[in-house]
Amino acid sequence: MSDIITVDFTGERPALESKRSGSYCRHAQVVVDDATRSVKCKACGRPLDAWRVLWREATNQTNLFGRLQDLKARIARATDELTEINRQLRNAKARLKRAKERT
Ligand SMILES: [Zn+2]
Repeated sequence: MSDIITVDFTGERPALESKRSGSYCRHAQVVVDDATRSVKCKACGRPLDAWRVLWREATNQTNLFGRLQDLKARIARATDELTEINRQLRNAKARLKRAKERT
């Protein structure tokens, strides 16, 4: 689980706002204004629901963290396979060298 934000998927999800409400936007980047304590879309300037932005970012982070863990596991498996391949290559080279020495 991520150390920064933990998303509780077991609880009720916040109600999604309709596309017609003023705070729906498909753009990915946001601007957080400390002075007005508001969040708006960086691309179109539409005011956004801060909770929804936080939920989206937390969910994205949780998904990325899961993907990172999966990739780390794949790297570890690939590293083990490469180690085994290198071991077999060393053995094959040694056998070839011994066979050449006998002839
Ligand atoms: Zn926008």
